Amino acid sequence: MNIAIVGAGLLGRLIALSLHRQGDQITLLDKDDKSARKSAAYAAAGLLTPLGEAMTCEPNIVEMGFKSLQLWPKLLANLREYTFFQQTGAIMLSHEQDKGDYLRFTRYINNHYPQHQTKTLNRQQLEQLEPEIARSFHQALYLPQEGQIDNRRLLLALRHQIENTDINWLSECYVGGIDSLPDSHTSVGGQLRYQFINRQNQTGKIHQQNFDLIIDCRGNGANPKNAQQDAAPLKDLRAVRGELFQLFAPDVQITRPVRLMHPRYQLYIAPKSKGNYVVGATEIESDDNSSMTVRSAMELLSAAYSVHPGFAEANIVEHVSQCRPAFSDNQPRIMVKQQMIQVNGLYRHGFLISPVVVEQINQLIANFKKSSGSFANISNDQKEFSYSSWLPITFVKGDAPVKHKKVPELHSIKEEHCS
Ligand SMILES: Cc1cc2nc3c(=O)[nH]c(=O)nc-3n(C[C@H](O)[C@H](O)[C@H](O)COP(=O)(O)OP(=O)(O)OC[C@H]3O[C@@H](n4cnc5c(N)ncnc54)[C@H](O)[C@@H]3O)c2cc1C
Repeated sequence: MNIAIVGAGLLGRLIALSLHRQGDQITLLDKDDKSARKSAAYAAAGLLTPLGEAMTCEPNIVEMGFKSLQLWPKLLANLREYTFFQQTGAIMLSHEQDKGDYLRFTRYINNHYPQHQTKTLNRQQLEQLEPEIARSFHQALYLPQEGQIDNRRLLLALRHQIENTDINWLSECYVGGIDSLPDSHTSVGGQLRYQFINRQNQTGKIHQQNFDLIIDCRGNGANPKNAQQDAAPLKDLRAVRGELFQLFAPDVQITRPVRLMHPRYQLYIAPKSKGNYVVGATEIESDDNSSMTVRSAMELLSAAYSVHPGFAEANIVEHVSQCRPAFSDNQPRIMVKQQMIQVNGLYRHGFLISPVVVEQINQLIANFKKSSGSFANISNDQKEFSYSSWLPITFVKGDAPVKHKKVPELHSIKEEHCS
């Protein structure tokens, strides 16, 4: 099948490779270059911490997180390039003034998720796991199944893997028109309209192409502030700003993600390779993607310093601000409309849950093929998928097929908000 995937961030890359493996002909389009520097995936911390998120998300996210922790090693084994993946648990901490929040968190996890392991640590036990933290904290909660991944390394490994296939990757290519209606003559396919951004000879020229199926993984690019009117904007999608630091702190020896109770954010310190740490992340209801504010910088850095004074000598490698794509209920969604699938709203859980999301998409497409390449022919039985109780798929009733009229013009490429 001839499938277009719009957006080569986290989901776009994972889905492209997965479908390619099943023999589909894939065209992957992204407005960014192949580094994905402007995607949420590039900005992220790569935490895979379902229980760490549990207080602020619904149980389906937690369960998808645990399932994905099982699926990640299998998924990474298909990549030729090494990607850092660790599952040695995470530590929850609090300072004395936030002890109430810590106790509330512990109670909540034990009451709501008794099936998942946790362990309260005294100072001695903490010292065995993370000696340098035990100097300042005499109690912690250990969540032994939590993990993390190196998001940037993963994006690079996926890039190289894709480049070694015949996937047609159109980078720096802005998709400004998506027509999900099947062609009136053949009754199959949807149409994309796109233009290249930086290639001198092609800038401005509008290309249009038909595909059997379009998968929209634009993240914040599908937000109505960013998407053209005729490019299937998702009305309910919003941006949630996050800021974090990349630090180089060779004097600090922390080996597991540490989450610190904080009245405003869920603060974490995630150790990456060779003395590198990610300290994040703020959570602000805004689509502003300008650089980090002084307030956020002070809060993040002083929190890191309060966990380990060695961060005082750390080098700031990078400060990052980017937005997470989220729906109003902060739930991910898979929506099917005519010949198009839209997957979005992964919010702060893209890495945590994407292996499950990819499996849902695979099953959906398998049933699409069994139904002669039309979602309209899918029976109700075929609308039940392995993970439907966690991540239901919405079949949006579409308009009747119409004859394509004159190709609508793409407007000038919109000034992007947070994508
Ligand atoms: C600061 C921060 C920290 C985070 N930390 C974590 C974490 O620790 N753990 C976790 O699980 N998740 C985390 N996340 C969330 C995670 O990064 C997102 O959920 C995930 O990246 C969403 O994936 P996506 O593929 O939907 O979107 P993206 O990764 O943003 O990819 C979307 C792609 O679509 C492209 N695009 C957009 N519009 C167009 C267009 N018109 N034409 C062509 N291409 C287009 C973009 O260029 C981009 O490459 C974090 C996010 C942020 C911002």
